Amino acid sequence: MRHRVELGTKVRLDDIDASDTGGYADRAAAAVELARDVARLDELQDRLYAENTRSLLVVLQAMDSGGKDGTIKHVMSGVNPIGCQVTSFKSPSEEEADHDFLWRIGKALPRRGNIGIFNRSHYEDVLVVRVHDLVPPSVWRERFDQINRFERLVSELGTRVLKFYLHIDRDEQKRRLQARLDDPNKTWKFSPADLAERQRWNDYREAYDDVLTKCSTEWAPWFVVPANKKWYRNLVVARTIVKTLEEMDPRPPRPTVDPKKIVID
Ligand code: AMP
Ligand code: MG
Repeated sequence: MRHRVELGTKVRLDDIDASDTGGYADRAAAAVELARDVARLDELQDRLYAENTRSLLVVLQAMDSGGKDGTIKHVMSGVNPIGCQVTSFKSPSEEEADHDFLWRIGKALPRRGNIGIFNRSHYEDVLVVRVHDLVPPSVWRERFDQINRFERLVSELGTRVLKFYLHIDRDEQKRRLQARLDDPNKTWKFSPADLAERQRWNDYREAYDDVLTKCSTEWAPWFVVPANKKWYRNLVVARTIVKTLEEMDPRPPRPTVDPKKIVID
């Protein structure tokens, strides 16, 4: 699938065009296909829910203002909320910090028949944690392999895992942070901490290059989604989820009754 990080590729985000639109001229050119994918996603989710044996986990990671919230809002807009949960991972609570880094992740995995969306994830434990030296390198370095093994087990046990890195460039981040300051309805989203993180852009780049290089596996692939253009970002994420669900081909269980033999009086 497009934008998938192939096994064994050394990823350098600086070499990937965040403004790529995959040949689509503009938003209008992609609109019909996006609407179709969003509708198809609803249909496939209904089948996944009815089948009630497997589930799908969608992991979203990005720099601040990269569009995680917007992606969820648009891509999942047609989906029945009953079969879908979003979990946002913040700085660990006292209880979470008192456990291993995968504890809170395991607890948030989607139920059978459900789509789970992670807004940030266990990857923060090799990103922000690395950039801010929250644990020694000897600890976070082990985590790439620990994450791969964890995700392998999760997928073996019936949860398909898709991971999207929403790729914006530094200029686009500047525009988006400025837009939060300019629009009173968006200012609540602005945090002075975002500016401090922006100062560490290159450190995050390096940390993300490692994540994408080391943790894109057969069983839990990463996708680098060009995300400067929100409409293209939405299209890529929606299309990838649809294709994956189509491949999973969920089927409602066989009826346990013969409908023709039942009379409702
Ligand atoms: P936001 O997504 O903007 O609400 O911010 C959530 C914040 O929590 C971000 O600054 C993340 O880097 C931070 N965060 C998430 N997971 C972790 C973690 N495991 N360790 C430290 N900080 C984290
Ligand atoms: Mg934020």
